Amino acid sequence: MKRVVHWFRRDFRITDNTALSAAVATAGPDGEVIPVYITSSWKGSHEWTGPARQQFLCGCLASLANNLEAIGGRLIIRRGDAVKELEKLLAETGATAIFANRDPDPFGRAVEARLESLLKPRGIEFLLHKDVCIHEQHEVLTGQGTIFRVFTPYSKVWFGLPKPSPGPAIKKLVTPSGIASRPLPQLSDWGLSSSATLPDAGERSARERLKVFVAGSMASYGEQRDLMGMNGTSHLSQDLRFGLISPRQIYAAAKKVEESLPTEGRKSTMKFLAEIVWREFYMQLLWHYPELLDHEFNSNWRGMKWPGLPDYPDSSEAFQRWREGMTGFPIVDAAMRQLAATGWVHNRARMIAAMFLTKDLHLDWRLGEAFFMRSLVDGEIASNNGGWQWSAGTGADAAPYFRIQNPWSQTKRYDPEGTYIRTWIPELRNVSNASLLDPSLDGCSIAPGYPVPMLDHSAERDRTLELFARQKEPGKR
Ligand SMILES: Cc1cc2nc3c(=O)[nH]c(=O)nc-3n(C[C@H](O)[C@H](O)[C@H](O)COP(=O)(O)OP(=O)(O)OC[C@H]3O[C@@H](n4cnc5c(N)ncnc54)[C@H](O)[C@@H]3O)c2cc1C
Repeated sequence: MKRVVHWFRRDFRITDNTALSAAVATAGPDGEVIPVYITSSWKGSHEWTGPARQQFLCGCLASLANNLEAIGGRLIIRRGDAVKELEKLLAETGATAIFANRDPDPFGRAVEARLESLLKPRGIEFLLHKDVCIHEQHEVLTGQGTIFRVFTPYSKVWFGLPKPSPGPAIKKLVTPSGIASRPLPQLSDWGLSSSATLPDAGERSARERLKVFVAGSMASYGEQRDLMGMNGTSHLSQDLRFGLISPRQIYAAAKKVEESLPTEGRKSTMKFLAEIVWREFYMQLLWHYPELLDHEFNSNWRGMKWPGLPDYPDSSEAFQRWREGMTGFPIVDAAMRQLAATGWVHNRARMIAAMFLTKDLHLDWRLGEAFFMRSLVDGEIASNNGGWQWSAGTGADAAPYFRIQNPWSQTKRYDPEGTYIRTWIPELRNVSNASLLDPSLDGCSIAPGYPVPMLDHSAERDRTLELFARQKEPGKR
């Protein structure tokens, strides 16, 4: 009888789970599978993890445990260093192989490498599968076989490749009895608490979100995706992050509905799928260039100085006002308050808030990157780094440094009725649209308790251009 381990990492589902399906198939009808998740003890104080994501993780694990139980299995929870815990589990159970889905980020890969070097000499198989992406890091290549550093040609090749169909749900899985397990984790295990309103966790909830989106907003995604006050996007990012749904399931569901849509709806579907491609583009970049986490991708801007605002010699005060949504720029503050309240932010609002930190406050994008990682329920290292470097103007395919979003015109264009602002800033609920959109009110408070704008955007825009120009010409630095 064959006994194998499936190590859950960021793939909390039993439907279309590549490595889990392979584990069940390898064990065979009479074999046993030990599904395990190893919680970390250190995530209570980690710079890049925070309560919203840990809370959602707890929900994912509770739902996964139920789903496994319904098909005859049992989720084993261990706590500590993944490699050591897996080593112990193998010794206790005599399992002969570990199955897992490959993690694209440098930290996940480092653990995989440690485990591999432990198991190889012992003749224990460690089988890593492709699951997180439709196309992994070595699949989407230029004609010369090199990787793309620019999105548009990458996406053309991505769309041209044959797509795998999603696999079925696992019907039966037998876990040996008597294996010790800790209880399902609670947020308090890490000494954390959260008041954020999060989406329901679990693969059924994720499938429901996908179903509602493809049957509804997907047809108008092209026109509505940037309107922050509308529910025009899929809200699937936390589901992809935790593997409650696979990108294959999303692609297949979108394609199925696309056929029945008029031309505009089909264009919208392609636009939506292009966002799934952005996710994979950033993942493959980080795979090939792990130094992106420390450095500006564009070598012109490497080592760039982020001096902060002259009026805020203590830049921690400016950073705090940004984090707390108290900059006096309603659209920026709405983004930061949505983040605090829900752990999720609309994509355009993320861009506006990120550009404000880097191009108006002149603070280092790495500060914002880490704060987003701590706060986002969908915190995905590759997409977050990509989004921050794009906004700072330092990344692959970034907005050129001289394209600096004006928070007032962004509001006019993408939140013209102030719906988004009023949803997240209660002080501004009774303020007229004209006041929300008028930068000339600079210096006056538009509502009691709400600050005046902390800076003059056009002056700081000029300063940004100067800072980048100086970086370009080292003699002037
Ligand atoms: C500064 C900044 C930080 C970001 N940090 C993250 C992050 O930590 N995690 C994260 O998943 N996304 C991040 N994004 C990308 C994007 O904002 C979110 O993926 C999107 O807002 C999620 O909402 P949605 O699921 O409704 O997206 P939809 O518009 O419905 O898109 C569908 C899916 O495509 C992917 N996607 C969409 N836009 C992007 C993008 N620009 N880059 C990469 N993938 C994308 C996501 O997986 C998303 O769920 C960031 C963007 C910026 C500008």
